[in-house]
Amino acid sequence: MPLNRKARTWLTESYAGDVTFEEPMSDHTSFKVGGPADALVRPKKRDDLVRLVRWASEHGITYMPIGAGSNILVRDSGIRGIVILLDGCLQTIAEKNPASGYPVVVAGAGVKLPALCAYALKHGFKGFNFILGIPGTVGGGLRVNAGAGGRSLGDVVETVGLLMPDGSIRTLQKTDLHFSYRNLDWPPELTAEPGSTPIILEADFCLKQAGKPGIRQEARQILKLRNAHQPWTAPSAGCIFKNPVGDRSAGQLIDMAGLKGKRIGDAQVSPKHANFIVNRGQATAGDILALMDLIRTSVYERYRIKLEAEVRIVG
Ligand SMILES: Cc1cc2nc3c(=O)[nH]c(=O)nc-3n(C[C@H](O)[C@H](O)[C@H](O)COP(=O)(O)OP(=O)(O)OC[C@H]3O[C@@H](n4cnc5c(N)ncnc54)[C@H](O)[C@@H]3O)c2cc1C
Repeated sequence: MPLNRKARTWLTESYAGDVTFEEPMSDHTSFKVGGPADALVRPKKRDDLVRLVRWASEHGITYMPIGAGSNILVRDSGIRGIVILLDGCLQTIAEKNPASGYPVVVAGAGVKLPALCAYALKHGFKGFNFILGIPGTVGGGLRVNAGAGGRSLGDVVETVGLLMPDGSIRTLQKTDLHFSYRNLDWPPELTAEPGSTPIILEADFCLKQAGKPGIRQEARQILKLRNAHQPWTAPSAGCIFKNPVGDRSAGQLIDMAGLKGKRIGDAQVSPKHANFIVNRGQATAGDILALMDLIRTSVYERYRIKLEAEVRIVG
């Protein structure tokens, strides 16, 4: 259902200062593109979030949680309904049951992955270095099963706390969750109702105690490698395509197809890493989608391999 005047009034009265209407998503995505969301709410507290989700569900209004917006490509037409930005709440990180003998870290969904890494490094907890340099949040990272170097968040998570559309809270064990390459599938019973997207509130991660110098040394190497091979200065959403099955990565295939540096409008295949599309200034989502189409077609025509988007196209 579109946001009618009554809904806008309720949002304005309930979230004064934390709600904006026709909010450009280009201000909330790492790609710096995307048309307006009907409404964007930035809940300050967990209770505000619960109330919002319950109200939206009761009124048939769609909502979409986002964290750092670093794995989404929002179409130029924008997003209907409410975008819930989780960078202002669900920010706690703590060690759980320190007496248990092995470190379990509980982190809110709004915690930035680099902050989680920094916490682990500070306490000498091993197991998070693979997410170093990934600019997302715990919630977004789990939803897309973010990872690098053959490891992903699904490998280290123990339990996930979820906010359901009716405002109830569920805790799922790792065994209830189906993680795959850059995805987390919810158990079917959780999404039986149309539009009933659970929101990740927090997660427990199981790590190992280790010597701080060793983990720090490993962290430095990982960051050095990332900086050497990936473009960091221009806006992007990280790898644009998933690596296909086989021995050649998406980046290698795009490079071999001669597309490094290829440009449509201000969207460009990064000359540094062919699986990154970067925004050279004024790119639109349309430019990026057109470039993605061109890449898909070129790679398919040459190698008969279908590339699948890693970035989530929304709106
Ligand atoms: C320079 C750069 C490098 C990157 N490198 C990597 C990399 O090495 N590996 C990698 O995997 N990714 C990488 N990425 C992509 C991205 O940073 C990760 O996928 C990140 O984990 C996404 O988190 P986010 O908070 O930005 O999610 P968002 O982009 O905000 O959201 C992604 C999806 O998760 C959903 N979501 C967000 N929060 C929640 C929540 N609390 N509950 C339920 N659903 C939610 C959204 O609705 C959306 O569908 C990179 C991106 C950039 C810009």
